Amino acid sequence: MEIYKGASAFAGIAIGKIRFYRKGEYQVRQHQADDVKKELKNFDVARRHVMQTLKEEYDRMSENQILEQAELLGSGSFLRAVQSMITGEKVTAAYAVQTTRDELQSTFSSLNDSSIKERIHNVSRVSSLLLEILGEDENKIDLGEEPVILAADTLSPAELMEMNKEKLLGIITRKGSSTSHAAILAKNMDIPCVTGIGIPQSEEEWEDSVAIIDGYTGTIYLEPDSEIRKEYEIRRKADLVEREELLKLKDQADVTKDGRKVGIYANIGSLDDLNSVLYYGARGIGLLRSEFQYLGRENYPGEEELFQAYKKTAQTMGDRLVIIRTADLGADKQASYLEIPKETNPLMGNRGIRLSLDRKNLFKTQIRAIYRASWYGNLGMMYPMICAEEEMDEIEALVTEVKEELQTAGVPFKEIQTGIMMETPAAVMIGEELAKRVDFLGIGTNDLTQYTLAMDRQNPLLQKKYNDHHPAILKMIKMIVDAGHAQNCKICLCGELAADTRLTETFLRMGVDALSVVPACILPVRKALRAVCIDEK
Ligand code: PEP
Ligand code: MG
Repeated sequence: MEIYKGASAFAGIAIGKIRFYRKGEYQVRQHQADDVKKELKNFDVARRHVMQTLKEEYDRMSENQILEQAELLGSGSFLRAVQSMITGEKVTAAYAVQTTRDELQSTFSSLNDSSIKERIHNVSRVSSLLLEILGEDENKIDLGEEPVILAADTLSPAELMEMNKEKLLGIITRKGSSTSHAAILAKNMDIPCVTGIGIPQSEEEWEDSVAIIDGYTGTIYLEPDSEIRKEYEIRRKADLVEREELLKLKDQADVTKDGRKVGIYANIGSLDDLNSVLYYGARGIGLLRSEFQYLGRENYPGEEELFQAYKKTAQTMGDRLVIIRTADLGADKQASYLEIPKETNPLMGNRGIRLSLDRKNLFKTQIRAIYRASWYGNLGMMYPMICAEEEMDEIEALVTEVKEELQTAGVPFKEIQTGIMMETPAAVMIGEELAKRVDFLGIGTNDLTQYTLAMDRQNPLLQKKYNDHHPAILKMIKMIVDAGHAQNCKICLCGELAADTRLTETFLRMGVDALSVVPACILPVRKALRAVCIDEK
């Protein structure tokens, strides 16, 4: 047995065989079709199914637009383009639909003609319905039949998103840290994760070895002896019992012993997480990291696809508030189609709101999708990486434009709450000015710590020095709370620190109104919150 010490990125115990992931491996070229005839048939079946759905919709609503959507599938250029792409390029039906849609969108999106806009909208809608049936979101990185412990040098969020969660028992990486976005995704998936492990360079040595991950202490036991294995089997069972016990809190109120109400919300990265949000009884979604929908794919998601995803989230959550953070792309969240030029210092680079404001089409498409979806539930919208009021000027102008366009087109939407992520020291220093412009402030302690301490949150060498309990961070949180409250803004803490139960009482005493944490941490935080008595001291 060998023992390796690293840092815990997410608690829990996993026992299983190791599979080593090397970049680019297990990459099934999903869009290449083995059997063209079969793909044409798949497309035809999906096409008929969607036509039937549209017919039923038309019978209910008799809107011309629905008829036009059905026509796209009856004959015409869209249909021919998809079919000829399947035959000519030997690609899957899903890939052909997606690419045809994206090509049409990018060719015509700059034109201001309302009939073209409507046609693009129709193509988008029809494509989404087809893709739902064709199962475009299949996992692209195939981990094999049996669930495994995945070992890797590093993992990017995009790679993790392409893996099937059911096949992942745990994650071990050489590099990375507990606040890297890959680790945050692992937390979302509720998978134990340890980083900074000295995996040997001859990785084959580890392949197929049995390992135990102790995500509580950041320890790996390689080929554990029978005593350790027995001990961890027992601990894993105890873990399950503790989880069962915590589940009793699932329908309990988020209230301190002395009656102060503080909402506990969920941080999520995809629609797949919605079940766990409901399962653990979150008050709502405090942070939907919308950028993950842009990763692990070949092209931008279109407005219709975004709209459908937000609508589903809004409908699933009903009256409960859902805060969609607009895409925080760039830095470690990359996709090749984004064509972000190489930067010397990406974490200080063109990321978050800067990138969105640089690419107004991308941003406007997302804002439109959010407003359209607002009609179906209780949505809010939050902007990442804000540093200056000028950014808010630009955002407000775009939002006004979107709302006017929707109004003119007769598309229903609701007025929604807006918020700013407080995750740069600059934002903290102009907290009151920023708070005047929105309804709530979200405190992003991951980036706030990184930028305040000037320490890369992903650098394993800094892991022991990256101190998110630093007095400067706690002081800044208090400053944000005071600045926000002075302007009647609600304050939601949504960085990883919000799940740190050692600080729950401190945050409540500071006046934080809500905590937003990965779904698996909702109940432990609720338990800590319910044990606090604010008036006691
Ligand atoms: C943060 O920075 O704390 C945050 C919540 O945003 P992200 O982790 O996605 O950068
Ligand atoms: Mg952040």
